[in-house]
Amino acid sequence: MIYFIDEIPISERRLFIRVDFNVPLTAKGAIADDSRIRACIPTILYCLEKKAKPVIASHLGRPQGVRDPKYSLKPVADRLSELLPDVEVIFTEDCVGDGVRRLTHEIRPSQLMLLENLRFHRGEGENDERFSKRLAELCDIYVNDAFGASHRAHSSTAGMARLVEKRCGGFLLKKEIQFLSKVTEAPERPFVAILGGAKISDKIGVIENLLNRVDKLLIGGAMAYTFLACKSVPLGKSLIEQARIHAAKRALERAATKGIPILLPIDHVIAKECDPRSPAKTTDHQEIPDGWMGLDIGPKTLQFFAENLKGAKTIFWNGPLGVYEQGAFAQGTLNLARVIVDIPGAITIVGGGDSTSAVLQAGVADRITHISTGGGASLEFVEGKSLPGLKALES
Ligand code: AMP
Repeated sequence: MIYFIDEIPISERRLFIRVDFNVPLTAKGAIADDSRIRACIPTILYCLEKKAKPVIASHLGRPQGVRDPKYSLKPVADRLSELLPDVEVIFTEDCVGDGVRRLTHEIRPSQLMLLENLRFHRGEGENDERFSKRLAELCDIYVNDAFGASHRAHSSTAGMARLVEKRCGGFLLKKEIQFLSKVTEAPERPFVAILGGAKISDKIGVIENLLNRVDKLLIGGAMAYTFLACKSVPLGKSLIEQARIHAAKRALERAATKGIPILLPIDHVIAKECDPRSPAKTTDHQEIPDGWMGLDIGPKTLQFFAENLKGAKTIFWNGPLGVYEQGAFAQGTLNLARVIVDIPGAITIVGGGDSTSAVLQAGVADRITHISTGGGASLEFVEGKSLPGLKALES
């Protein structure tokens, strides 16, 4: 059983709050999107209201255990101060050590601490026992509000939780579990999943597990080409994972045995190169000519997918249906976002950075039931895997 922050006494206690402030940065190091910071504000405000002492920690990027100023959380500290004008944000130069530990005892009401990037220490990613202990020294209660990092067994997401007297989830974690459990436990049927993205290697496990749960599976993006390759459809120079054709074939066979339709694109937007300057055209059929590559689903596929989504009561979507970063290949993904929000009464759950930016770009984000802050974590959750960060919270 997992307790949440509003179920345990926290006043006057030091709370280590693991958040996911791994925000996208511009080339100049500015925060390109602060939604991950905003998403944790309810937990932080609750702590301040209860007169607890918040010690906030996160990773940013992959500095590989090296102190690299490019990955400093300083810009996040500045943004947090802007978002919480009545609060003093104390940003520490390191995330462990005697000085940091002393400060955790000295936090006054209306103050919070934000620790420097956890991944400046190699021990974090290695879930090193000694590093976990150094983190555990900083608090009385461990709080996980970093759903997006909960599929990783790191010191701050897993190792330290057991070394602390009490542990619980924050409000963001609670919301993620509540919504994603709708998919894993008793989804309202029909339940349709849509998967896209570049590679099936990342998602074959999800597909296997979703076949135990969904009524239909729609597949787009480059992933679809590996499936079409199983059927010997000519695909030009589209991205195909030769090493995964066998796994894709097995998934198609299992789906057929179970009577679950796996629907693949029936037309495509193609170009000779994956480049905005390369002229694009739409095919009339499933085949792609030599020298061309499929870069988006075509209008017939969109129509076909829309027909198959009609009447769905639960929709889970992860991964773009094309190279949506380039205007010429974005329409399939953006229009699918518009289709799912128009299905009457459907619970729509979107996970993954790309699908999230697609629903934002399509202007329909506020009509999605739940946008998960965790791409990999939401996939693993839906896949039915036990997430180390959630397991570590269990009492
Ligand atoms: P993933 O991280 O596996 O979800 O993949 C996301 C990436 O897949 C995005 O950057 C898309 O541009 C890319 N993608 C989607 N469809 C295609 C395609 N048909 N060909 C190449 N890349 C694609």
